[in-house]
Amino acid sequence: MCAGCDAPLTTPLSQVALPVHAHQKYGNAIQLPVLMEPGTFAVETEPWGPPWRRWEEVGSEEAALRGVLAPVHALSYGASGAIVVAPGDTRGTVLFPERLGGACCGLDGREGPNAACEACGSLVATRIDDCSLWQATWLAPDAVRRCPVDGGGDTDVMPLSWAELVAEGSATPPFEPVATWGGSRLGSSHFWSWSPRWVAAAGQALAHLLAASEGRPVTVPDGLVADLFRRALDTLLPTGPSARRAVLAGPELPAPDTGTGSDAHAHADILLVPTHPQTGETWAPADPTTSAYWVPLPFGVWLSLVFPEPYPPVLASGVIPLDVLRDDPLAPLPPQPFRADPRVFHRTMARLPAVRSPWLREILKQNSLTHLL
Ligand SMILES: [Zn+2]
Ligand SMILES: [Zn+2]
Repeated sequence: MCAGCDAPLTTPLSQVALPVHAHQKYGNAIQLPVLMEPGTFAVETEPWGPPWRRWEEVGSEEAALRGVLAPVHALSYGASGAIVVAPGDTRGTVLFPERLGGACCGLDGREGPNAACEACGSLVATRIDDCSLWQATWLAPDAVRRCPVDGGGDTDVMPLSWAELVAEGSATPPFEPVATWGGSRLGSSHFWSWSPRWVAAAGQALAHLLAASEGRPVTVPDGLVADLFRRALDTLLPTGPSARRAVLAGPELPAPDTGTGSDAHAHADILLVPTHPQTGETWAPADPTTSAYWVPLPFGVWLSLVFPEPYPPVLASGVIPLDVLRDDPLAPLPPQPFRADPRVFHRTMARLPAVRSPWLREILKQNSLTHLL
């Protein structure tokens, strides 16, 4: 509700983890979907939004106090704790005409809050609907208050167990039609591509994989995991023996051998594990004494990697009924090799303690990095 006048600003909502792609800027003139599922909200625990201060102004010592350990273009000095919701879940807000400048095809919120409480007029939220950004309404943490829902609303629901999540099977498909500005998602103005959510998830995971490499080669399993990471890992990391081995691990999978067993081929040094979509917690193996490095993947992406769908889709038998219009182009295979999201990669990397290591700084200096992301 509005902190100024107590007017309700959203429908009742349940908290979920902040998606990895929350701040993604994807492609050029792309129409991205709504970030949050209806009925959910998530919290950005770090500062976000204006004012931004450039790295040169802030300096490495102060940046480190804010958790940023390597140079970035700019740091947000906005408030932390912004609450993001689906725009359709907001109530009683109106756009504030004086704050709508600076956008491309829509609103990008670069000037801070652009929506006001209808009842009292205070600025309470930032509506974002510009091209290449996820549709969202970010409630300003200092302008709103959370209040518990009476009558046992779904805000009290226990998070699902890992087994329940696997059984539910909400996988994020690796490929999807991406709409260009002005086109509809399944109309003519779209192209098939790697899912923007996969691109963001891989940006985060690749930063962790490089940190986990310890400057040695890293091997990944064949299939989709290789499609995501192998080209980047093989290009950026040295070749040779003594590779560190990354494997998928998580609920319902046999425990990987992370001990110091003699069988070098079975030994896993790096575990690609899911994060919980509601709590954001990273899955932990039953034997938490393992020295393996855990690389987080959003649950839906992880599930697709563990149980991949055949691609291209297997053809059903029979013929298409005559009255089905076939003016769509056939769903083509995504064209380019996979590229992880550069902004998510750098944002993650700048917060990993390993980024201070000279060996990792050397890896990140390579020119090839810009061609891989
Ligand atoms: Zn635009
Ligand atoms: Zn108000």
